[in-house]
Amino acid sequence: MGIAVLGAGVSGLTVARKLQEKGYEVTVYEKEKKAGGLARSRVVDGYVYDPHGGHIFNSKNPKIVEWVFSLLPKENWQFRVRNAKILFGDKYVSYPFELSLCELDVDDAVDCARDFIMAQQGPEPDNYRDWLVWNFGKGIAERYMLPYNRKIWAYPLEDMETSWMAGKMPLPTKEEILRSFLLKDPSERKMPHSTFYYPTYGGIQTMVDRIADGLDLHLGEPITSIQKMDGRWVINGEAAYDAVISTIPLPELPGMMELPPSVQSAIAGLKYNSVTTVLCKCPETDISWLYMPEKQYRTHRIGYQSALTPAAAPAGTGSGAFEIIGEPFAVDRDIIHKPGVAPGALELSEVLDWEFSKYAYVIHDRDYRKNTQTVFNYFGALDGFHLLGRFSTWNYKNMDMCMQDAFELAEKFE
Ligand SMILES: Cc1cc2nc3c(=O)[nH]c(=O)nc-3n(C[C@H](O)[C@H](O)[C@H](O)COP(=O)(O)OP(=O)(O)OC[C@H]3O[C@@H](n4cnc5c(N)ncnc54)[C@H](O)[C@@H]3O)c2cc1C
Repeated sequence: MGIAVLGAGVSGLTVARKLQEKGYEVTVYEKEKKAGGLARSRVVDGYVYDPHGGHIFNSKNPKIVEWVFSLLPKENWQFRVRNAKILFGDKYVSYPFELSLCELDVDDAVDCARDFIMAQQGPEPDNYRDWLVWNFGKGIAERYMLPYNRKIWAYPLEDMETSWMAGKMPLPTKEEILRSFLLKDPSERKMPHSTFYYPTYGGIQTMVDRIADGLDLHLGEPITSIQKMDGRWVINGEAAYDAVISTIPLPELPGMMELPPSVQSAIAGLKYNSVTTVLCKCPETDISWLYMPEKQYRTHRIGYQSALTPAAAPAGTGSGAFEIIGEPFAVDRDIIHKPGVAPGALELSEVLDWEFSKYAYVIHDRDYRKNTQTVFNYFGALDGFHLLGRFSTWNYKNMDMCMQDAFELAEKFE
């Protein structure tokens, strides 16, 4: 059985590897000249970085961790305890904010704690803006949750639903928040991503390249057409396969295959945002990443690549990549000196490189369920055609979840 995998990101590479191990003939097509998708890395003037945002690895699933370490053994990784901060005024407050109220000035801390104790009364709202206020109270919501979320989503929060949050967002209980406040201990041990791994050398690309090793990869070969002919799937009008696994973002599919109008319109209704990542030199730091909720700066986060591994920057220097959500953002070497881009406190000293990621975050708007259901019902009924990956299954998935889905899909092939 011949299988075509469309896209050589973490999802496509993982499923291709798993299927090849099972004895299938697998061909992977990728439009870029390098494998990895969002999990790519680049070296610029001796600085290693992940241009689509620093990609740390962790997983709650021991099978995934074991598999990754079987490909890139553990001694090739840096183990880190997350040291994430929030720039709040001129203070560096520990992340998550709600567990770090003890680090705020007393008036802020009292407002936040008082409103939080009174929070979660009445019915749970079904829109994200009201839910943030309902869950955390006005004090935390207005100081941090609302301004930060407005930046990261760049979409009206009142038009987003809330079901996507479980497991993705740290949601400490009232008891945990009160304990951290009273004990002055911004502990985050139970939060997602509180510890993680990052390859010592070569960025996350090193992991990706190990997954890709030995696969039949067709790099720099964009898919332009997908047709069903005589019971087989024909790719780019040439090669025919018994099955296709597509990891290509859904909004790209109507341009390459015939779809009923209802499916086309459901796909057109899917919401997502884009991000520009700008790598800069900066002072060395042990902060993993820093969140910036303040409205006056366009950036919402800087990821310190040099804090992930000492090999990410030449000795004695640091590097950080700040992110700006929205349409392609005009970047030049002077961008760090322009007002309203990134706080001066970051001491960014030189722009090294930048990258635009068209597909960054799936947005769970109010029509999310209706549109995804229409799309998945249609594709689910197509014989031999499978959707896999973050922007093909249209969900907020990190690399480990993409790997897990790929394992599960590969298992379905007899
Ligand atoms: C800013 C940011 C930070 C993140 N940080 C982390 C993190 O720290 N840890 C973590 O685990 N996850 C992180 N993620 C999530 C992670 O990037 C994804 O879970 C994962 O990389 C998705 O892999 P994928 O293969 O499903 O999709 P993609 O990586 O998007 O792969 C799809 C592939 O399809 C290719 N393609 C598209 N069109 C065509 C075409 N016409 N023909 C051929 N190929 C095509 C693309 O070039 C791409 O290579 C982050 C994501 C973002 C946006």
